[in-house]
Amino acid sequence: MIRPFIAGNWKMHKTIGEAVDFASRLRKALAEPLEADVVIAPPFTALYAVAEALRGSEIHICAQNLHEDVSGRGAYTGEVSAPMLADVGCEYVIIGHSERRTLFGEKNGVIVKKIRTALKFGLKAILCIGETLNERDQGKTFTVVERQIKNGLSNFIVDDIKNVVIAYEPVWAIGTGKTATPEQAGEVHAFIRHTMEKYSGKDISRCLAIIYGGSVSPDNIRDLMAQRDINGALVGGASLEIESFIRIVKFT
Ligand code: PEP
Repeated sequence: MIRPFIAGNWKMHKTIGEAVDFASRLRKALAEPLEADVVIAPPFTALYAVAEALRGSEIHICAQNLHEDVSGRGAYTGEVSAPMLADVGCEYVIIGHSERRTLFGEKNGVIVKKIRTALKFGLKAILCIGETLNERDQGKTFTVVERQIKNGLSNFIVDDIKNVVIAYEPVWAIGTGKTATPEQAGEVHAFIRHTMEKYSGKDISRCLAIIYGGSVSPDNIRDLMAQRDINGALVGGASLEIESFIRIVKFT
C-alpha cells in the first residue's frame, strides 16, 4: 500500500505573513500522526519562515523550482540552488510543472538536469508530466506521457527513483476547473506505473507514488483517490484556502 501524498502548490501567492498564518493553522488542524504525506510549496520568499513554523511537525516543505547547475552555485542572477533549498528546510522540489514548460520554455534536457541536481543535494523530486488538450484530442496522451517519462527518468537508477514522485497533470485540467474524470486519470496513472515498470522494474514501480493534479478540489478528491493507481494529489488553486486544503488532506 502506497502512502497517500497530498501536496499544495501555492505558485506566486502569499506573503510571508499569510504563508506562516496558513502553516500554523494547518499544523493545528492536522492531528499527528498524519495519514498522508502532506507537503506545501510556498513561494521562495516564504520558505524559511514556513519551515520554521512547521519545524518538528510532520508537514513537509517543497520548493516550486530550482536551478539545474549540479555544482549548486554560480553566476545565475535571480536563481536559487538545490543546496540553498535544502538549507532553508525543503525536502521536495517540483520539477517540470507545465507552467515552467510553457511559460519559461523548460525542455526535457533541463528537466533531467534539475532532477539530477535535486537528488544530488538530498531533495526529493516531484516530476510533473501530462498532455495538452490538443495532444489528448489527437489520441496522443500515452505517447506524450511515455516520452516524458523516458526523457525524464529512464537514465536514473532505482535508488534515485525512490526519491521521485510522479505528478500526472493533464495541462488542460490545470487551473481550468476541468478535472479529468477519475476513470480518465486512473487509466493514465495505470499506464504510468506500467511504463515505470518497463524502464525501472517492477519493485520500484509498485511503490512509486503517482499523484494527480488538475483542478483537484474537496468535492472530487475522494473519487480520484478511489482509483487504484492514484496515490495522491498535487493541488494548485484549492490549496490556497486553508479549509479546502484541510478537506483535501482529510479526504477519507
Ligand atoms: C497545479 O498547478 O499543479 C495545479 C494542479 O493547479 P490547479 O489545482 O489549480 O488546477
